[in-house]
Amino acid sequence: MKQEILCQHCANETRGIFGCVFRDEATPYPHEHVKLVEGTAKQEYICDLCSEDIHIGSDCVAFSAWTDYGAQYYKWEDAFINIREAKDV
Ligand SMILES: [Zn+2]
Repeated sequence: MKQEILCQHCANETRGIFGCVFRDEATPYPHEHVKLVEGTAKQEYICDLCSEDIHIGSDCVAFSAWTDYGAQYYKWEDAFINIREAKDV
């Protein structure tokens, strides 16, 4: 499983690429999955895509990507970010 911490800008771009603009999970290709979890940073991070500073407490997104035939998804986000609970639809 790929795990990245992204700034808001890169998270939005990633959502667009994978077609998950209106929901935070998608299956962009057969047997491939992505998941984005929003929250605030628990530590100082650098965005894994653009290297922008992500300061403690600022908004960021935990991005996971995995396949059916590789290492499976597991919850890892809450070790890195304070997860913002999904709004009820
Ligand atoms: Zn970024």
